Amino acid sequence: MKKPTLTIVVPCYNEEEILPYAFKELTTFLQQLIEESCVSEESKILFVDDGSKDKTWAMIYHETLKKELIRGVKLARNVGHQNALLAGLFTAKDSSDCLVSIDADLQDDIEVIRGFIDRFNEGYDVVYGVRNKRITDTFFKRNTAQLFYRLMKKMGVDLVYNHADYRLMSKRAVEELTGFQEVNLFLRGIVPLIGFPSTSVEYERKERLAGDTKYPLKKMLSFAFDGITSFSVTPIRFVLTIGLLSFFVSMLFGSYFLFLKFYGNTELGWTSLITSIWLIGGLQLIAIGLIGEYIGKVYKETKKRPKYIIDIDSYNLPLPKHLLNKEMVEDESAKLAFGKLSETN
Ligand code: UDP
Ligand code: MG
Repeated sequence: MKKPTLTIVVPCYNEEEILPYAFKELTTFLQQLIEESCVSEESKILFVDDGSKDKTWAMIYHETLKKELIRGVKLARNVGHQNALLAGLFTAKDSSDCLVSIDADLQDDIEVIRGFIDRFNEGYDVVYGVRNKRITDTFFKRNTAQLFYRLMKKMGVDLVYNHADYRLMSKRAVEELTGFQEVNLFLRGIVPLIGFPSTSVEYERKERLAGDTKYPLKKMLSFAFDGITSFSVTPIRFVLTIGLLSFFVSMLFGSYFLFLKFYGNTELGWTSLITSIWLIGGLQLIAIGLIGEYIGKVYKETKKRPKYIIDIDSYNLPLPKHLLNKEMVEDESAKLAFGKLSETN
């Protein structure tokens, strides 16, 4: 059987602390896979720098010069994890048979990739890495994540439970991804929609070794909200139902107040009146806000802006000196590497 060419895609945003470790672990691992004839010699690790503000790109660039196995792509600006991942997948798809996406912090056990490749060889196009436990996540993260999956399910979005973006995709699955033109990208929701044969492999998730999570609470909430609103109109329907209900209730109240006016004491009504004004007002604002959210999404989609722009691809190096940015030139190791590079050309 022909050995598949694998590309491991690693999106990186301000990961200078963890990168040396990631370089070492991933190259040793891929080297092993190649030696064991699990994957072809053309297999690569592609690091995507998502517009980092630290030395991330300089480090990646330096590493691409030292190691054949490593390819680097620098995005022109920060576009977020999902888009950075997509940039990596699309960049590498032509030179790979299968692609694995993994976070730079290597919280996901890389040994699992062996399992991914076995499944791929059995004919699966998509292999999801599924966490069997969440012991290393904080209590808060574990519970909010669980709530998220439940909520998504209620909203009619079919997600693979406890699967983050650690997965293998075949070349043809990634090619199909190009057909999903949406700007509001939520890969975890989209990949199952492709519908090619898929399976999952379980593993245990480790702790982040260095650096901080790039998903603070605010980003997490907006990620969840985006996930829901890009996939389902259930929230709008929910608002409509509440609107209808409150309309019905106010009709009842109305009749009751009319009854009081003719047969009782009307001044009693003030409290309920003021309460319902606030209640209805609030509901209306929520509804308008939610609808606005969807309209905003539609607006973004109609513009069809590119999801990412590639600034530098190590495959197209060496670059003219003026294209190297300041940090890269200031970084000693990169400078050295660049000097070496210009000599060979
Ligand atoms: N990341 C990225 N762009 C961003 C934010 C994050 O490319 O704007 C990358 C980050 O470098 C990491 C991955 O996405 O490789 C997941 O981020 P993180 O580990 O911080 O998320 P968590 O595991 O805490 O959910
Ligand atoms: Mg992480």
